[in-house]
Amino acid sequence: MSAVDSEGDAERQRFAALLDRAASQARTIVFWWRDDDAQQPTPALARLLALARRHDLPLALAVIPKGATDALAETLANEPRVFALQHGWQHRNHAPAQEKKTELGDHRPVSEVMAELALGFERLSALFGETFLPVLVPPWNRIAASVRDARREVGLIGFSAFDAAPSDAAHWVNTHVDIIDWRARSALPRAAAYALLCWEVERRLAGDEAEPLGILTHHLVHEEETWAFLDELFALVGDHAATAWPPVPEFFALPN
Ligand SMILES: [Zn+2]
Repeated sequence: MSAVDSEGDAERQRFAALLDRAASQARTIVFWWRDDDAQQPTPALARLLALARRHDLPLALAVIPKGATDALAETLANEPRVFALQHGWQHRNHAPAQEKKTELGDHRPVSEVMAELALGFERLSALFGETFLPVLVPPWNRIAASVRDARREVGLIGFSAFDAAPSDAAHWVNTHVDIIDWRARSALPRAAAYALLCWEVERRLAGDEAEPLGILTHHLVHEEETWAFLDELFALVGDHAATAWPPVPEFFALPN
């Protein structure tokens, strides 16, 4: 029995047909992949890296600075297509209980938040060297505009959260398809995931082509179904004639 169930076959076919049509029109959709919450090597991380190697894909790993280990840096040193991004400081919620979880919100003075981000930047630079890219990924994809705008003061040039990014924002590249249903804390149903992918591709074919299409994963919470879905998805989009997977530093347009 296949781990990928047949629910969603129609959506998958529609997605594949969209890509084929894009290829026939010589259109290209730029894809990228971000996985969040890495701190140390785990069996799930090994599986994630193996998945990236198997499909020969670049991968941006949002690493939580405070808990990041030497062992993680050693692991990534062997993965030339994998880069580390800065995932806040310690992934701690500072919002009151009735609000959505936020580490980098406006619940504390900006100076206090920036001091933590500076610590995180130093720590990731020291641990990962050139594998670390100066890109801020806010925990829970939430951030106060004041913090987002001040990030460059500590060296964080790039920014990545979730949903459509403003078209005029430099070095800002979001993710768009989160394959976890966080309310259910389980895999997004396959049909829903392909339907989302179709919508994002259609949006680009209609004119938003410049915005890379970001797949968001969280290796620590993947179920078998999630891994199977990703394997199937990457087999389709990894080397399709209508897709491009540039190296991570390239689409963040980071200076050398
Ligand atoms: Zn996170």
